Amino acid sequence: MAVKRQLSMVLDLNKCIGCHTCTSACKLQWTNRNGREYMYWNNVETRPGTGYPKNFHEMGGGFDQDGALRIGKEPSAEDYGVPWEYNYEEALMTGTDPWLRPNVKPTWGANWDEDEGEGDYPNSYYFYLPRLCNHCENPACLAACSRNAIYKRQEDGIVLIDQERCRGYRYCVSACPYKKVYFNEEISKSEKCIFCYPRIEKGLPTACAKQCVGRIRWIGYRDDEDGPIHTLVDKYKVALPLYPEMGTKPNVFYVPPLSPPKIDEAGGATAESRVPLDYLESLFGDGVSAALETITAERAKKAEGGESELMDTLIGYRHAEMFKLS
Ligand code: SF4
Ligand code: SF4
Repeated sequence: MAVKRQLSMVLDLNKCIGCHTCTSACKLQWTNRNGREYMYWNNVETRPGTGYPKNFHEMGGGFDQDGALRIGKEPSAEDYGVPWEYNYEEALMTGTDPWLRPNVKPTWGANWDEDEGEGDYPNSYYFYLPRLCNHCENPACLAACSRNAIYKRQEDGIVLIDQERCRGYRYCVSACPYKKVYFNEEISKSEKCIFCYPRIEKGLPTACAKQCVGRIRWIGYRDDEDGPIHTLVDKYKVALPLYPEMGTKPNVFYVPPLSPPKIDEAGGATAESRVPLDYLESLFGDGVSAALETITAERAKKAEGGESELMDTLIGYRHAEMFKLS
């Protein structure tokens, strides 16, 4: 779907420390009230892992190879888990309960399998995958909406749901292969990440990017040839979309993680990567190998005292320069 300009985000998975500050910033700003309590417009998953909602990548949606819309499965309440609160008043203020405890039994939630990963010591591995709506070029949520309630803004490509038009049919929830549309039962309407458009309109980055402790997020316009998105996605091709085979053409891109070497029985480093290449390719497609080779070569160049535009960009010396919003 052609728009005048497309705002995009790149996240460098080599720098994410899984602190969830982004999630907290998003939640406090947008989803800690009014039926949104279970929603995570931004969440951070441990990979390999089940993701949020549970095994969302097996629920279908998106488009097939011929471009036909696939209506996938709508996640169940169990796939999200029930949000809980704590008895702060009783445990911390009045002292009527000696224990701080959740008010419902937690059974599942965002990043439930935190830091489990895969493999056996000393070759165990995991990394973090922060996720938000991809503000796709070809949004399955939009294509699925029989009310034409979902639209893509011409000025920046942000995908929004017109709350006046939405009737809560939830086709968008099923059709989004990333399961980044949520149904709000209190108002019977669908809601999703709005790319913090009220902040963007004031020239401010999204809350998740602004608060990111690891400085892993860049925001800018895809057509800005002097901007970080063009540098990372188009020039060096080190930032790749998640599950590109879903056919929605995401505008959130990931720099895949470099891997430490596998350790052999004698305790020595082997030439084999600990994070399997085919696992990374199952997430980010065929471009992973070339992206990792480029990063490795540019890193070596920089380590030897040479110049590297790519490394200077990825390091993110000055946080404010990671956002180019005009
Ligand atoms: Fe729509 Fe899902 Fe793409 Fe977001 S990620 S624009 S909700 S299809
Ligand atoms: Fe990763 Fe940044 Fe989120 Fe922390 S705030 S989990 S470093 S994306």
